Amino acid sequence: DPAALPLPQPCRITDIKHTKLFINNEWHSSAKGKTIPIFNPATGDKICEVEEADKADVDVAVEAARAAMKRGSAWRRMDVSGRGRLLHKLAELLERDRTLLATMESMDSGKPFLQSFFIDLEGSIKTLRYYAGWADKIHGKTMPVDDNFMCFTKHEPVGVCGAIIPWNFPLLMFTWKIAPALCCGNTVVIKPSELTPLTALHVGALIKEAGFPPGVVNIVPGFGPTSGAAIASHMGIDKVAFTGSVEVGQLIKEAAAKSNLKRVTLELGGKNPCIVFGDSDLQLAVQEAQKGAFYNQGQCCTAASRVFVEERVYDEFVRLSVESAKKIVAGDPMDPRTSHGPQINQQQFEKILDLVESGKREGAKLECGGHALQDKGLFIQPTIFSDVKDHMRLAKEEIFGPVQCIMKFKSQEEVIERANSTHYGLAAAVFTRSVDRAMSVSSALEAGTVWVNCYNALHAQAPFGGYKMSGNGRELGEYALAEYTEVKAVTIKLSEQLT
Ligand code: NAD
Repeated sequence: DPAALPLPQPCRITDIKHTKLFINNEWHSSAKGKTIPIFNPATGDKICEVEEADKADVDVAVEAARAAMKRGSAWRRMDVSGRGRLLHKLAELLERDRTLLATMESMDSGKPFLQSFFIDLEGSIKTLRYYAGWADKIHGKTMPVDDNFMCFTKHEPVGVCGAIIPWNFPLLMFTWKIAPALCCGNTVVIKPSELTPLTALHVGALIKEAGFPPGVVNIVPGFGPTSGAAIASHMGIDKVAFTGSVEVGQLIKEAAAKSNLKRVTLELGGKNPCIVFGDSDLQLAVQEAQKGAFYNQGQCCTAASRVFVEERVYDEFVRLSVESAKKIVAGDPMDPRTSHGPQINQQQFEKILDLVESGKREGAKLECGGHALQDKGLFIQPTIFSDVKDHMRLAKEEIFGPVQCIMKFKSQEEVIERANSTHYGLAAAVFTRSVDRAMSVSSALEAGTVWVNCYNALHAQAPFGGYKMSGNGRELGEYALAEYTEVKAVTIKLSEQLT
C-alpha cells in the first residue's frame, strides 16, 4: 500500500554550490564576467546568479570536448565496459543526491516536489542505467558482398555532441541527451535553459565525482541567441541535439546547414490528439486525458491539448473532467499535497492567458478555470474548454499551459482526419476497449508515439520523437544510438573469394 509508505520530503537548500560554467571538470567564470539571475517561479524570489556563457565560453568548452575526443585520449582509450561503469556510477550518485536534486528542480522550475522526485529523478536515473547497459553492446555487422571482398561495419562515435535543452524537464532532458551520447563514446557540450540551469550544474559535479575524464561533459548555461546559437553554428561540433520550440528548431537546422552540416536531431512541439471512443473505460479516459492536459502545468511537448470525444459520451466526459479538475490542489510545490505549481515565467504566463481569452472570444465554452489564481504570481487555474472547434486558436496553437480543449466527433474516419490535420506529429492517444479499433486508429495516426488506453507513458527503452514538424530523429531506446554513431564500412580485398 503506497499510502502507508512515508513520502519523501524536500530538503532545505540554503545556498547553491555550483553556479559556474563546468568545462574540463573545472568551474569557470564566464569570459565576459556576466551572470544570469535565477528565480523561483513559485515565489518570485531570486535563488542565485549563474555564470552566463557566451560564444567565447562555448569555444573553450568545445576545445575541451575536442581534446577529450582526440585519438589516444583517456576517454578514447577507455574500455567500452568502463564507459558503462561510469554511467552506472553517475546513476548511483543521482540516487544518492536524489532528494537534493528533486528539491532543487522544484525550486528552479516550480514543479511539485513529489513529481520531481518520482518522475524527473526516476526517469533520469533509469535513462542513465539503460544507456550504461548499452555501452558494450553497440555492434556493427558483417555483410556478404560481391566478388572477393569482405565487408563489416563499425558504429563509431560522431564526435563532439552539442545539446540545447528547455526548462520544462531540465534534468530529464539533460540525461536524455548525455546518456546516449556518452554510451556511444562521444563528448558533450550542453546548454541548459537560461531559466533552469541548477540541476544540470549539480550533475556536473557528480560527473566529475564519478570519474569521467576532463572535457567529456561540458555545461555552459546561457541564452539562446548567444551561447545556443554558438553551439548550433560551431565548426568544432559534429552533431547538435535540440529540444524546444519549432521556431528555434528551424534556426538550429539552418545554422547547422550553413556551418559544417553537423548532424541535427530535433524534439519540438506538439498539438497532440487524444481520442476517446464511446466504448472506452470512461473513468480511465478522463483521468489519463486530464493527466495529459495538466501534468507539469501543461508545460509538456506531449500535452494532450486536443481531446476528441465521441458524441454519445461527450457530455458525460466533460462533466467528469470538470469534476476531476476542480479537485486539483494548486499551491506551494514543496507541499506534498500540491499537484499543480506555477508556470515557468511571466512571458509564458501571459501567453497562456492570452490563448484562454482567445478561446472565450472565439466562442468555446469555458467549463472551469480560465483565470490566474488570485494573488499567486504565476499560477493559472486548471482550465477546461468544451465546444472547441478546429479553426480556433485553442485547437491550433501549442498552449504550453494547463488548458484542456475538448471537441466532439461522430465517426472514426472523421476523427482520424481531424487528428492528423496539423503540422505537428509528436504524440497521440486512443481510448477504446476494441483491440481492432486501437490497432487501426494507431496505424492511421501521424505521430511518433501512440498511447492506447494510457497517456504520457514514456520509457527509457522505447523511442520518442516526432513525425512532421514535431522533429527529426528519435531519442531513447535502441533507436537513439543511431543518432549518436557514425557507421563505418570497412571493405577488405581478399586474394580469393570466400566460399
Ligand atoms: P525555446 O525553443 O526558445 O528554448 C529552448 C532552448 O533553446 C533554450 O535552451 C533556449 O535558450 C534555446 N534557444 C533559444 N533561442 C535559440 C537560438 N536562437 N539558438 C539556439 N538556441 C536557442 O523555447 P522556450 O522559449 O523555452 O519556450 C517557447 C515555446 O517553446 C513554448 O511555449 C513551447 O511551445 C515550446 N517548448 C517546447 C518544449 C518541448 O519540450 N518540445 C520545451 C520548451 C518549450
